[in-house]
Amino acid sequence: MDIILDGLTKTFTSKENTETIAVNNLCVTIPSGHLVGLLGPSGCGKSTTLFLLAGLHEPTSGKIYFGDEDVTALPPEKRGIGLVFQNYALYPHMTVYDNIAFPLRNSKSFRLSHPDAKERKAAIDDIVIRTAKIVAIEQLLTRKPAQLSGGQQQRVAIARAIAKQPKVLLLDEPLSNLDARLRIQTREEIRRIQQATGITTVFVTHDQEEAMSITDEIIVMKDGVVQQVAPPQETYVHPANAFVAQFMGNPPINFFDASISSGHVILNGDKAIRTTLPDGRYKVGIRPESFVPDEAGKDGVFHVDIGYKATVGRDFQVRFDLNGKYSEALIESDYEVSEGDTVFFSLKKSGVHIFDDQGVRIERW
Ligand code: ATP
Repeated sequence: MDIILDGLTKTFTSKENTETIAVNNLCVTIPSGHLVGLLGPSGCGKSTTLFLLAGLHEPTSGKIYFGDEDVTALPPEKRGIGLVFQNYALYPHMTVYDNIAFPLRNSKSFRLSHPDAKERKAAIDDIVIRTAKIVAIEQLLTRKPAQLSGGQQQRVAIARAIAKQPKVLLLDEPLSNLDARLRIQTREEIRRIQQATGITTVFVTHDQEEAMSITDEIIVMKDGVVQQVAPPQETYVHPANAFVAQFMGNPPINFFDASISSGHVILNGDKAIRTTLPDGRYKVGIRPESFVPDEAGKDGVFHVDIGYKATVGRDFQVRFDLNGKYSEALIESDYEVSEGDTVFFSLKKSGVHIFDDQGVRIERW
């Protein structure tokens, strides 16, 4: 069941009558069974979009479809959604078992489809145990939330959300409260659980690496407006615009103003890379891994003075002034370089992007 957001807009009006357009004319299809990331900086409208999907906010305009069904006016409990928040929101006085069973016991439709109390209890037992197995917490069913780690609590919250067999799973920054190592483990778990259940899932995060590592597609947002909808690698390799190029990747892409002259991008006064674009000033983005140490005097080689060097895993991270902007490169550590050296670089074209004056990436150059 695809989810279709058709011209979805949410405007908040304050008491002083100032308007914030939190989500602006969102038109996106989330394919059935996919795990889709809603990604962007704080305040870009991710949570508002999720709350609109959940039915916790009413849109100012636009429609939401779950498959063929227009759910725009449906209350949350009628949408068939499972919600997981950052703070787990487990019932502290209940065991893990009861936390997972609670929504089923309270579901009118579940009671109607299982009218016999004994049979209903057996059905709940079956679902709780199956779900606990999926999220790998079957050993913890008799514990209370306070006796669990953060990662385990989040798995219980996910189990509770999927026990009702929702059509859509909505996760709002579910990993934010976990420490770095557990965050990585749990995000992989979320991917595994999502694939095991096949539930269409929307995952809100401000962390590009998190979105990159587990999603099928990423919706990148800025100021309530979608910037790009694409598979993770695509947003990195073919960013739609300068904002996406800057948001995806760590260390971030280097941006600066450069001139194009006689078929070459000029960097630090040297001809750096060929282009068919007409002469003029352009915004150029270069990924840190696109700098390749090369020999002086060759065509397409430019020079920089290294101001800083550090070892990052297998690579050297070096910083230098390029066209008046402090820039950063990642180079293989078998290349000998020290602070103060002049280094000659050529560029790998794959990580070099040119943008027009609106920040839109120029496809052919
Ligand atoms: P964060 O990562 O910080 O949670 P976000 O991308 O989820 O941010 P939203 O919470 O969706 O962003 O907020 C989008 C914009 O809408 C922000 O400018 C925010 O201040 C505003 N906003 C959100 N909820 C309300 C509300 N209930 N009333 C007024 N303005 C709101």
